[in-house]
Amino acid sequence: MIKKVLIANRGEIAVRIIRACKESGIRTVAIFSDADVTSLHVRMAEEAYHVGPAPSAESYLYIGRIIDVAKKSGTDAIHPGYGFLAENPVFAKEVKAAGVIFIGPEADTIELLGDKMAARKRMIDAGVPVVPGSETKVDDIESASRFAGEIGYPVLIKAAAGGGGKGMRIVRKSEEMTAALRMAQNEARSAFGDERIYIEKYLERPRHIEIQIMADTHGNVVHLGERECSIQRRHQKVIEETPSPVVDDELRQRMGETAVRAAKASNYVNAGTVEFLLDQQKNFYFLEVNTRLQVEHPVTELVTGIDLAKEQIRVANGEKLSFTQESIRWNGAALECRIYAEDPDSEFMPSIGKITEYREPSGPGVRVDSGLDHFGQVSIYYDPLISKLCTWGNDRDEAISRMRRALAEYRIQGVKTVIPFHLLVMNHEKFIAGDLSTHFIGEELAQMQEQNPMAEDTMKKIAIFCAMVEQQHQNQVQNIHSDRNDKVKSAWKMKGRQRIA
Ligand code: ADP
Repeated sequence: MIKKVLIANRGEIAVRIIRACKESGIRTVAIFSDADVTSLHVRMAEEAYHVGPAPSAESYLYIGRIIDVAKKSGTDAIHPGYGFLAENPVFAKEVKAAGVIFIGPEADTIELLGDKMAARKRMIDAGVPVVPGSETKVDDIESASRFAGEIGYPVLIKAAAGGGGKGMRIVRKSEEMTAALRMAQNEARSAFGDERIYIEKYLERPRHIEIQIMADTHGNVVHLGERECSIQRRHQKVIEETPSPVVDDELRQRMGETAVRAAKASNYVNAGTVEFLLDQQKNFYFLEVNTRLQVEHPVTELVTGIDLAKEQIRVANGEKLSFTQESIRWNGAALECRIYAEDPDSEFMPSIGKITEYREPSGPGVRVDSGLDHFGQVSIYYDPLISKLCTWGNDRDEAISRMRRALAEYRIQGVKTVIPFHLLVMNHEKFIAGDLSTHFIGEELAQMQEQNPMAEDTMKKIAIFCAMVEQQHQNQVQNIHSDRNDKVKSAWKMKGRQRIA
Protein backbone atom coordinates (compact mmCIF):
# COMPACT_ATOMS: atom_id res chain seq x y z
CA MET A 1 0.00 0.00 0.00
CA ILE A 2 1.30 3.45 -0.90
CA LYS A 3 1.15 5.58 2.24
CA LYS A 4 3.88 8.10 1.52
CA VAL A 5 4.88 9.67 -1.82
CA LEU A 6 8.01 11.68 -2.61
CA ILE A 7 7.52 14.21 -5.38
CA ALA A 8 10.74 14.48 -7.38
CA ASN A 9 9.82 17.85 -8.82
CA ARG A 10 9.01 21.46 -8.01
CA GLY A 11 6.58 24.21 -9.03
CA GLU A 12 2.99 23.75 -10.09
CA ILE A 13 3.27 20.04 -10.89
CA ALA A 14 4.66 19.26 -7.43
CA VAL A 15 1.73 21.18 -5.94
CA ARG A 16 -0.70 19.30 -8.20
CA ILE A 17 0.61 15.91 -7.04
CA ILE A 18 0.65 16.94 -3.37
CA ARG A 19 -3.06 17.79 -3.73
CA ALA A 20 -3.81 14.38 -5.26
CA CYS A 21 -1.96 12.67 -2.38
CA LYS A 22 -3.75 14.70 0.29
CA GLU A 23 -7.11 13.77 -1.20
CA SER A 24 -6.05 10.11 -1.19
CA GLY A 25 -4.91 10.18 2.46
CA ILE A 26 -1.25 9.81 1.47
CA ARG A 27 1.62 11.65 3.19
CA THR A 28 3.86 13.78 0.99
CA VAL A 29 7.58 14.40 0.85
CA ALA A 30 8.87 17.43 -1.05
CA ILE A 31 12.44 18.00 -2.20
CA PHE A 32 13.92 21.44 -2.75
CA SER A 33 17.03 23.25 -3.92
CA ASP A 34 18.58 26.41 -2.47
CA ALA A 35 16.35 28.42 -4.80
CA ASP A 36 13.14 26.87 -3.46
CA VAL A 37 13.50 27.07 0.33
CA THR A 38 10.23 28.98 0.70
CA SER A 39 8.44 27.69 -2.40
CA LEU A 40 4.79 26.72 -2.36
CA HIS A 41 5.39 22.98 -2.87
CA VAL A 42 7.76 22.95 0.14
CA ARG A 43 5.21 24.71 2.33
CA MET A 44 2.41 22.36 1.26
CA ALA A 45 4.13 19.00 1.80
CA GLU A 46 4.18 17.28 5.19
CA GLU A 47 7.95 16.76 4.96
CA ALA A 48 10.57 18.54 2.89
CA TYR A 49 14.23 17.76 2.26
CA HIS A 50 16.97 19.91 0.81
CA VAL A 51 18.70 18.18 -2.13
CA GLY A 52 21.28 20.69 -3.31
CA PRO A 53 22.10 24.03 -4.88
CA ALA A 54 19.86 25.84 -7.37
CA PRO A 55 21.19 24.38 -10.66
CA SER A 56 18.94 21.40 -11.43
CA ALA A 57 21.88 19.11 -12.34
CA GLU A 58 22.94 19.37 -8.69
CA SER A 59 19.47 19.07 -7.14
CA TYR A 60 16.32 18.03 -9.01
CA LEU A 61 18.34 15.83 -11.39
CA TYR A 62 20.58 14.31 -8.72
CA ILE A 63 19.30 10.72 -8.73
CA GLY A 64 21.45 9.39 -5.87
CA ARG A 65 20.47 12.14 -3.49
CA ILE A 66 16.75 11.88 -4.30
CA ILE A 67 16.82 8.13 -3.66
CA ASP A 68 18.63 8.74 -0.36
CA VAL A 69 15.83 11.08 0.69
CA ALA A 70 13.26 8.45 -0.32
CA LYS A 71 14.96 5.87 1.88
CA LYS A 72 15.52 8.25 4.78
CA SER A 73 11.91 9.40 4.78
CA GLY A 74 10.38 5.95 4.44
CA THR A 75 8.80 6.81 1.09
CA ASP A 76 6.76 4.06 -0.61
CA ALA A 77 6.59 5.65 -4.05
CA ILE A 78 8.10 8.46 -6.12
CA HIS A 79 6.09 10.63 -8.51
CA PRO A 80 8.40 12.31 -11.04
CA GLY A 81 5.93 14.94 -12.35
CA TYR A 82 7.00 16.13 -15.83
CA GLY A 83 10.40 17.38 -16.96
CA PHE A 84 13.51 16.74 -14.84
CA LEU A 85 13.73 12.93 -14.32
CA ALA A 86 10.21 12.06 -15.47
CA GLU A 87 11.29 10.36 -18.69
CA ASN A 88 14.67 9.09 -17.56
CA PRO A 89 14.74 5.27 -17.67
CA VAL A 90 17.83 5.15 -15.41
CA PHE A 91 15.89 6.98 -12.69
CA ALA A 92 12.89 4.63 -13.02
CA LYS A 93 15.26 1.65 -12.80
CA GLU A 94 17.12 2.96 -9.76
CA VAL A 95 13.93 3.84 -7.92
CA LYS A 96 12.72 0.28 -8.40
CA ALA A 97 16.10 -1.16 -7.39
CA ALA A 98 15.84 0.83 -4.14
CA GLY A 99 12.57 -0.97 -3.38
CA VAL A 100 10.46 2.13 -4.06
CA ILE A 101 7.51 2.25 -6.52
CA PHE A 102 8.00 4.51 -9.55
CA ILE A 103 4.69 6.18 -10.42
CA GLY A 104 4.85 5.79 -14.19
CA PRO A 105 5.56 3.18 -16.84
CA GLU A 106 8.28 0.52 -16.63
CA ALA A 107 11.84 1.68 -17.33
CA ASP A 108 11.96 -0.43 -20.53
CA THR A 109 8.88 1.30 -21.90
CA ILE A 110 10.31 4.74 -21.08
CA GLU A 111 13.55 3.78 -22.81
CA LEU A 112 11.84 2.44 -25.93
CA LEU A 113 9.50 5.40 -26.35
CA GLY A 114 12.19 7.97 -25.49
CA ASP A 115 14.03 6.95 -28.62
CA LYS A 116 11.91 8.45 -31.38
CA MET A 117 13.36 6.17 -34.03
CA ALA A 118 12.81 3.00 -32.01
CA ALA A 119 9.28 4.19 -31.14
CA ARG A 120 8.47 4.83 -34.82
CA LYS A 121 9.67 1.35 -35.72
CA ARG A 122 7.54 -0.24 -32.97
CA MET A 123 4.49 1.73 -34.13
CA ILE A 124 4.97 0.78 -37.79
CA ASP A 125 5.10 -2.89 -36.72
CA ALA A 126 1.88 -2.40 -34.72
CA GLY A 127 0.10 -0.88 -37.72
CA VAL A 128 -0.04 2.66 -36.29
CA PRO A 129 0.25 5.31 -39.04
CA VAL A 130 3.45 7.36 -38.66
CA VAL A 131 4.61 10.50 -40.48
CA PRO A 132 6.35 9.24 -43.65
CA GLY A 133 10.09 9.22 -43.00
CA SER A 134 13.30 7.27 -42.71
CA GLU A 135 13.21 4.03 -40.77
CA THR A 136 16.88 4.08 -39.85
CA LYS A 137 19.27 6.83 -38.85
CA VAL A 138 20.60 9.14 -41.53
CA ASP A 139 24.16 10.29 -41.05
CA ASP A 140 25.62 11.32 -44.35
CA ILE A 141 24.60 13.94 -46.84
CA GLU A 142 24.18 11.47 -49.74
CA SER A 143 21.62 9.30 -47.98
CA ALA A 144 19.88 12.35 -46.48
CA SER A 145 19.50 13.98 -49.91
CA ARG A 146 18.44 10.75 -51.58
CA PHE A 147 15.83 10.10 -48.91
CA ALA A 148 14.52 13.67 -48.93
CA GLY A 149 14.25 13.50 -52.73
CA GLU A 150 12.17 10.33 -52.43
CA ILE A 151 9.63 11.63 -49.90
CA GLY A 152 9.76 15.16 -51.39
CA TYR A 153 10.72 18.49 -49.85
CA PRO A 154 10.06 20.09 -47.40
CA VAL A 155 11.43 17.61 -44.87
CA LEU A 156 12.13 17.81 -41.16
CA ILE A 157 15.38 16.58 -39.66
CA LYS A 158 14.79 15.26 -36.14
CA ALA A 159 16.99 14.02 -33.33
CA ALA A 160 16.27 10.41 -32.26
CA ALA A 161 16.74 11.48 -28.64
CA GLY A 162 14.88 14.78 -29.24
CA GLY A 163 12.45 16.57 -27.01
CA GLY A 164 11.30 20.08 -26.21
CA GLY A 165 11.50 21.04 -29.88
CA LYS A 166 15.30 20.78 -29.82
CA GLY A 167 17.32 19.27 -32.67
CA MET A 168 14.61 19.87 -35.31
CA ARG A 169 15.39 21.55 -38.67
CA ILE A 170 13.10 22.21 -41.60
CA VAL A 171 14.77 21.73 -44.98
CA ARG A 172 12.85 23.27 -47.86
CA LYS A 173 15.22 22.53 -50.74
CA SER A 174 18.17 20.26 -51.46
CA GLU A 175 20.72 23.12 -51.36
CA GLU A 176 19.92 23.61 -47.65
CA MET A 177 20.50 19.97 -46.73
CA THR A 178 24.24 19.96 -46.01
CA ALA A 179 24.19 22.86 -43.55
CA ALA A 180 20.93 21.72 -41.91
CA LEU A 181 22.19 18.18 -41.40
CA ARG A 182 25.38 19.39 -39.75
CA MET A 183 23.54 21.85 -37.49
CA ALA A 184 20.94 19.26 -36.44
CA GLN A 185 23.64 16.73 -35.59
CA ASN A 186 25.60 19.28 -33.57
CA GLU A 187 22.50 20.41 -31.70
CA ALA A 188 21.48 16.79 -31.00
CA ARG A 189 24.96 15.97 -29.74
CA SER A 190 25.17 18.93 -27.40
CA ALA A 191 21.57 18.77 -26.14
CA PHE A 192 21.20 14.98 -25.78
CA GLY A 193 24.70 13.50 -26.12
CA ASP A 194 23.34 11.46 -29.04
CA GLU A 195 23.79 12.69 -32.60
CA ARG A 196 21.50 10.15 -34.31
CA ILE A 197 19.04 11.94 -36.55
CA TYR A 198 16.32 10.83 -38.95
CA ILE A 199 14.15 12.51 -41.57
CA GLU A 200 10.39 12.98 -41.69
CA LYS A 201 8.10 14.53 -44.26
CA TYR A 202 7.35 18.08 -43.09
CA LEU A 203 3.58 18.37 -42.99
CA GLU A 204 2.29 21.79 -44.02
CA ARG A 205 -0.10 23.46 -41.58
CA PRO A 206 -0.94 20.37 -39.49
CA ARG A 207 -2.84 20.38 -36.22
CA HIS A 208 -1.33 18.84 -33.12
CA ILE A 209 -3.84 16.43 -31.62
CA GLU A 210 -2.89 14.11 -28.78
CA ILE A 211 -4.73 11.33 -26.98
CA GLN A 212 -4.59 10.80 -23.22
CA ILE A 213 -4.24 7.17 -22.28
CA MET A 214 -4.36 5.37 -18.96
CA ALA A 215 -3.39 1.74 -18.44
CA ASP A 216 -3.35 -0.48 -15.34
CA THR A 217 -1.34 -3.60 -14.53
CA HIS A 218 -4.41 -5.80 -15.15
CA GLY A 219 -4.35 -5.29 -18.91
CA ASN A 220 -6.92 -2.48 -19.07
CA VAL A 221 -5.96 0.29 -21.49
CA VAL A 222 -8.36 3.19 -21.90
CA HIS A 223 -8.23 6.48 -23.81
CA LEU A 224 -9.67 9.70 -22.41
CA GLY A 225 -10.12 11.60 -25.65
CA GLU A 226 -8.04 14.23 -27.34
CA ARG A 227 -6.41 17.54 -26.59
CA GLU A 228 -5.62 19.98 -29.34
CA CYS A 229 -2.29 21.75 -28.83
CA SER A 230 -1.85 23.56 -32.13
CA ILE A 231 -1.14 26.96 -30.61
CA GLN A 232 2.61 26.65 -30.33
CA ARG A 233 5.63 28.91 -30.22
CA ARG A 234 8.91 27.45 -31.46
CA HIS A 235 7.24 24.00 -31.55
CA GLN A 236 6.26 24.36 -27.89
CA LYS A 237 2.64 24.37 -26.73
CA VAL A 238 1.19 27.51 -25.16
CA ILE A 239 -2.59 26.95 -25.34
CA GLU A 240 -4.36 23.59 -25.21
CA GLU A 241 -7.99 22.58 -25.37
CA THR A 242 -10.43 19.71 -25.44
CA PRO A 243 -12.43 18.73 -27.38
CA SER A 244 -10.62 19.78 -30.53
CA PRO A 245 -12.91 21.86 -32.77
CA VAL A 246 -12.15 19.45 -35.67
CA VAL A 247 -12.42 16.09 -33.95
CA ASP A 248 -15.86 14.50 -34.23
CA ASP A 249 -17.02 11.33 -32.44
CA GLU A 250 -15.94 9.08 -35.28
CA LEU A 251 -12.41 10.55 -35.51
CA ARG A 252 -12.08 10.54 -31.69
CA GLN A 253 -12.93 6.86 -31.65
CA ARG A 254 -10.44 6.03 -34.41
CA MET A 255 -7.63 8.09 -32.88
CA GLY A 256 -8.45 6.71 -29.43
CA GLU A 257 -8.34 3.11 -30.65
CA THR A 258 -5.03 3.79 -32.42
CA ALA A 259 -3.58 5.30 -29.23
CA VAL A 260 -4.68 2.25 -27.26
CA ARG A 261 -2.98 0.06 -29.88
CA ALA A 262 0.21 2.16 -29.52
CA ALA A 263 0.06 1.73 -25.74
CA LYS A 264 -0.42 -2.02 -25.96
CA ALA A 265 2.45 -2.32 -28.46
CA SER A 266 4.78 -0.78 -25.89
CA ASN A 267 3.47 -2.65 -22.78
CA TYR A 268 2.30 0.66 -21.42
CA VAL A 269 1.22 1.08 -17.80
CA ASN A 270 0.05 4.28 -16.03
CA ALA A 271 -0.75 7.68 -17.66
CA GLY A 272 0.68 8.60 -21.04
CA THR A 273 0.00 10.68 -24.10
CA VAL A 274 0.12 9.55 -27.71
CA GLU A 275 0.82 12.56 -29.90
CA PHE A 276 -0.36 12.81 -33.50
CA LEU A 277 -0.30 15.36 -36.28
CA LEU A 278 -3.55 15.75 -38.21
CA ASP A 279 -3.28 16.94 -41.82
CA GLN A 280 -5.81 19.05 -43.68
CA GLN A 281 -7.53 15.92 -45.07
CA LYS A 282 -7.91 14.70 -41.45
CA ASN A 283 -5.34 11.92 -41.81
CA PHE A 284 -3.50 11.44 -38.55
CA TYR A 285 0.10 10.38 -38.04
CA PHE A 286 1.90 9.21 -34.91
CA LEU A 287 4.55 11.63 -33.61
CA GLU A 288 5.65 10.25 -30.24
CA VAL A 289 4.48 9.01 -26.84
CA ASN A 290 5.13 11.12 -23.75
CA THR A 291 5.57 8.68 -20.89
CA ARG A 292 4.36 10.92 -18.07
CA LEU A 293 1.58 13.19 -16.90
CA GLN A 294 1.48 16.09 -19.38
CA VAL A 295 1.48 19.79 -18.51
CA GLU A 296 -1.92 20.07 -20.18
CA HIS A 297 -3.62 17.15 -18.37
CA PRO A 298 -6.08 19.41 -16.44
CA VAL A 299 -8.24 20.09 -19.52
CA THR A 300 -8.93 16.35 -19.79
CA GLU A 301 -9.73 16.25 -16.08
CA LEU A 302 -12.18 19.14 -16.48
CA VAL A 303 -14.25 17.45 -19.19
CA THR A 304 -14.07 13.84 -17.94
CA GLY A 305 -14.26 14.50 -14.20
CA ILE A 306 -11.41 11.97 -13.75
CA ASP A 307 -8.47 12.91 -11.52
CA LEU A 308 -5.50 11.64 -13.53
CA ALA A 309 -2.94 12.18 -10.77
CA LYS A 310 -4.98 10.16 -8.26
CA GLU A 311 -5.55 7.50 -10.89
CA GLN A 312 -1.78 7.29 -11.45
CA ILE A 313 -1.23 6.52 -7.78
CA ARG A 314 -4.01 3.95 -7.81
CA VAL A 315 -2.45 2.16 -10.80
CA ALA A 316 1.01 2.27 -9.17
CA ASN A 317 -0.60 0.63 -6.15
CA GLY A 318 -1.58 -2.32 -8.34
CA GLU A 319 -5.29 -1.46 -8.37
CA LYS A 320 -7.56 -1.55 -11.40
CA LEU A 321 -8.53 1.67 -13.19
CA SER A 322 -11.57 3.21 -11.54
CA PHE A 323 -13.33 3.58 -14.93
CA THR A 324 -13.80 1.69 -18.17
CA GLN A 325 -13.80 2.95 -21.76
CA GLU A 326 -17.59 2.74 -21.82
CA SER A 327 -18.05 4.67 -18.58
CA ILE A 328 -16.18 7.79 -19.75
CA ARG A 329 -18.40 10.79 -20.49
CA TRP A 330 -16.98 13.95 -22.01
CA ASN A 331 -18.83 16.98 -20.74
CA GLY A 332 -18.40 20.51 -22.13
CA ALA A 333 -15.15 22.13 -23.25
CA ALA A 334 -11.96 23.19 -21.49
CA LEU A 335 -9.02 25.45 -22.35
CA GLU A 336 -5.59 25.92 -20.81
CA CYS A 337 -3.36 28.99 -21.12
CA ARG A 338 0.19 28.56 -19.84
CA ILE A 339 1.02 31.64 -17.82
CA TYR A 340 4.73 32.17 -18.31
CA ALA A 341 6.79 34.91 -16.69
CA GLU A 342 8.08 36.17 -20.00
CA ASP A 343 8.38 39.61 -21.44
CA PRO A 344 6.55 40.04 -24.74
CA ASP A 345 8.56 43.24 -25.26
CA SER A 346 11.88 41.35 -25.20
CA GLU A 347 11.25 38.44 -27.53
CA PHE A 348 9.55 36.49 -24.75
CA MET A 349 12.69 36.24 -22.68
CA PRO A 350 12.04 34.93 -19.16
CA SER A 351 11.12 37.79 -16.82
CA ILE A 352 13.06 37.06 -13.67
CA GLY A 353 12.31 38.56 -10.28
CA LYS A 354 10.17 38.71 -7.21
CA ILE A 355 6.40 38.69 -7.42
CA THR A 356 5.16 41.78 -5.62
CA GLU A 357 1.42 41.35 -6.08
CA TYR A 358 -0.46 38.16 -6.86
CA ARG A 359 -4.17 37.55 -7.17
CA GLU A 360 -5.60 34.58 -9.03
CA PRO A 361 -8.87 34.63 -10.92
CA SER A 362 -11.69 32.44 -9.66
CA GLY A 363 -15.43 32.09 -10.10
CA PRO A 364 -17.44 29.70 -12.25
CA GLY A 365 -15.47 27.31 -14.43
CA VAL A 366 -11.98 28.52 -13.48
CA ARG A 367 -9.08 26.31 -12.33
CA VAL A 368 -5.60 27.62 -11.60
CA ASP A 369 -2.68 25.25 -11.04
CA SER A 370 0.14 27.43 -9.79
CA GLY A 371 3.55 26.86 -8.34
CA LEU A 372 4.02 30.43 -7.19
CA ASP A 373 2.12 32.80 -4.97
CA HIS A 374 2.68 36.21 -3.44
CA PHE A 375 5.84 34.89 -1.75
CA GLY A 376 7.15 33.67 -5.09
CA GLN A 377 10.18 34.40 -7.13
CA VAL A 378 10.75 33.60 -10.81
CA SER A 379 14.21 32.07 -10.85
CA ILE A 380 16.70 31.92 -13.70
CA TYR A 381 17.30 28.28 -12.90
CA TYR A 382 13.95 26.80 -13.89
CA ASP A 383 11.12 26.98 -16.40
CA PRO A 384 9.42 30.37 -15.94
CA LEU A 385 5.91 28.84 -15.76
CA ILE A 386 3.92 30.70 -13.07
CA SER A 387 0.73 28.75 -13.48
CA LYS A 388 -1.70 27.08 -15.81
CA LEU A 389 -5.00 28.87 -16.12
CA CYS A 390 -7.84 26.59 -17.23
CA THR A 391 -11.47 27.34 -17.90
CA TRP A 392 -14.39 25.03 -18.42
CA GLY A 393 -17.62 25.85 -20.23
CA ASN A 394 -20.71 24.05 -21.44
CA ASP A 395 -19.29 24.64 -24.89
CA ARG A 396 -16.13 26.13 -26.44
CA ASP A 397 -17.61 29.65 -26.68
CA GLU A 398 -18.33 29.68 -22.96
CA ALA A 399 -14.85 28.34 -22.14
CA ILE A 400 -13.33 31.13 -24.27
CA SER A 401 -15.39 33.90 -22.70
CA ARG A 402 -14.53 32.59 -19.25
CA MET A 403 -10.86 32.54 -20.24
CA ARG A 404 -11.03 36.20 -21.36
CA ARG A 405 -12.70 37.12 -18.10
CA ALA A 406 -10.22 35.10 -16.02
CA LEU A 407 -7.17 36.51 -17.83
CA ALA A 408 -8.45 40.02 -17.18
CA GLU A 409 -8.96 39.20 -13.47
CA TYR A 410 -5.45 37.80 -13.02
CA ARG A 411 -3.15 40.27 -11.23
CA ILE A 412 0.57 39.55 -11.25
CA GLN A 413 3.01 42.35 -10.49
CA GLY A 414 6.79 42.33 -10.25
CA VAL A 415 7.41 40.28 -13.37
CA LYS A 416 6.08 40.50 -16.92
CA THR A 417 3.75 37.74 -18.08
CA VAL A 418 2.24 36.46 -21.31
CA ILE A 419 -1.30 37.32 -20.16
CA PRO A 420 -1.69 40.08 -22.81
CA PHE A 421 -0.58 37.61 -25.46
CA HIS A 422 -3.27 35.12 -24.39
CA LEU A 423 -5.88 37.88 -24.47
CA LEU A 424 -4.81 38.61 -28.02
CA VAL A 425 -5.35 34.97 -29.06
CA MET A 426 -8.67 34.67 -27.16
CA ASN A 427 -9.97 37.64 -29.13
CA HIS A 428 -8.61 36.49 -32.49
CA GLU A 429 -11.38 35.65 -34.95
CA LYS A 430 -9.59 32.58 -36.37
CA PHE A 431 -9.02 31.18 -32.90
CA ILE A 432 -12.66 31.79 -32.03
CA ALA A 433 -13.66 30.01 -35.25
CA GLY A 434 -11.42 27.04 -34.33
CA ASP A 435 -9.40 27.55 -37.52
CA LEU A 436 -6.05 26.41 -36.11
CA SER A 437 -2.73 24.95 -37.18
CA THR A 438 0.69 24.65 -35.60
CA HIS A 439 1.57 27.76 -37.64
CA PHE A 440 -1.19 29.85 -36.10
CA ILE A 441 1.07 32.16 -34.12
CA GLY A 442 3.63 32.60 -36.89
CA GLU A 443 1.09 33.15 -39.68
CA GLU A 444 -1.43 35.29 -37.88
CA LEU A 445 1.20 37.49 -36.40
CA ALA A 446 3.02 37.74 -39.74
CA GLN A 447 -0.21 39.03 -41.24
CA MET A 448 -0.54 41.62 -38.52
CA GLN A 449 3.03 42.56 -39.28
CA GLU A 450 2.16 43.31 -42.90
CA GLN A 451 -0.52 45.65 -41.66
CA ASN A 452 2.04 47.24 -39.42
CA PRO A 453 5.25 48.05 -41.32
CA MET A 454 6.74 49.47 -38.13
CA ALA A 455 7.23 45.96 -36.80
CA GLU A 456 10.27 44.54 -38.52
CA ASP A 457 10.00 41.00 -37.22
CA THR A 458 7.40 38.66 -35.83
CA MET A 459 8.48 38.91 -32.23
CA LYS A 460 8.49 42.69 -32.41
CA LYS A 461 4.98 42.58 -33.81
CA ILE A 462 3.77 40.31 -31.02
CA ALA A 463 5.32 42.77 -28.58
CA ILE A 464 3.47 45.73 -30.12
CA PHE A 465 0.15 43.92 -30.03
CA CYS A 466 0.70 42.69 -26.52
CA ALA A 467 1.53 46.20 -25.40
CA MET A 468 -1.73 47.38 -26.97
CA VAL A 469 -3.77 44.69 -25.24
CA GLU A 470 -2.01 45.39 -21.95
CA GLN A 471 -2.82 49.09 -22.33
CA GLN A 472 -6.49 48.30 -22.95
CA HIS A 473 -6.46 46.07 -19.89
CA GLN A 474 -4.89 48.83 -17.77
CA ASN A 475 -7.48 51.30 -19.08
CA GLN A 476 -10.27 48.93 -18.09
CA VAL A 477 -8.82 48.57 -14.62
CA GLN A 478 -8.49 52.35 -14.32
CA ASN A 479 -12.07 52.84 -15.51
CA ILE A 480 -13.30 50.41 -12.89
CA HIS A 481 -11.40 52.34 -10.24
CA SER A 482 -12.59 55.76 -11.34
CA ASP A 483 -16.19 54.50 -11.53
CA ARG A 484 -15.83 53.21 -8.02
CA ASN A 485 -14.38 56.53 -6.81
CA ASP A 486 -17.31 58.39 -8.35
CA LYS A 487 -19.73 56.09 -6.59
CA VAL A 488 -17.97 56.50 -3.28
CA LYS A 489 -17.94 60.27 -3.69
CA SER A 490 -21.59 60.54 -4.57
CA ALA A 491 -22.57 58.26 -1.70
CA TRP A 492 -20.51 60.50 0.59
CA LYS A 493 -22.16 63.62 -0.85
CA MET A 494 -25.59 62.07 -0.38
CA LYS A 495 -24.79 61.29 3.23
CA GLY A 496 -23.66 64.87 3.78
CA ARG A 497 -26.82 66.20 2.19
CA GLN A 498 -28.96 63.95 4.37
CA ARG A 499 -27.17 65.21 7.44
CA ILE A 500 -27.62 68.84 6.42
CA ALA A 501 -31.26 68.15 5.74
P1 ADP B 1 9.51 17.34 -29.36
O1 ADP B 1 9.55 15.97 -28.75
O2 ADP B 1 10.86 17.95 -29.54
O3 ADP B 1 8.52 18.25 -28.69
P2 ADP B 1 7.66 16.49 -31.44
O4 ADP B 1 7.99 15.38 -32.37
O5 ADP B 1 6.73 16.16 -30.32
O6 ADP B 1 9.01 17.12 -30.85
O7 ADP B 1 7.07 17.71 -32.26
C1 ADP B 1 6.80 18.96 -31.67
C2 ADP B 1 6.08 19.85 -32.67
O8 ADP B 1 6.89 20.02 -33.85
C3 ADP B 1 4.77 19.31 -33.21
O9 ADP B 1 3.69 19.59 -32.36
C4 ADP B 1 4.66 20.05 -34.52
O10 ADP B 1 4.27 21.39 -34.34
C5 ADP B 1 6.09 20.07 -35.02
N1 ADP B 1 6.37 18.90 -35.88
C6 ADP B 1 6.96 17.74 -35.50
N2 ADP B 1 7.05 16.90 -36.56
C7 ADP B 1 6.51 17.51 -37.61
C8 ADP B 1 6.31 17.16 -38.99
N3 ADP B 1 6.71 16.00 -39.49
N4 ADP B 1 5.71 18.07 -39.81
C9 ADP B 1 5.32 19.29 -39.33
N5 ADP B 1 5.48 19.67 -38.05
C10 ADP B 1 6.07 18.81 -37.20
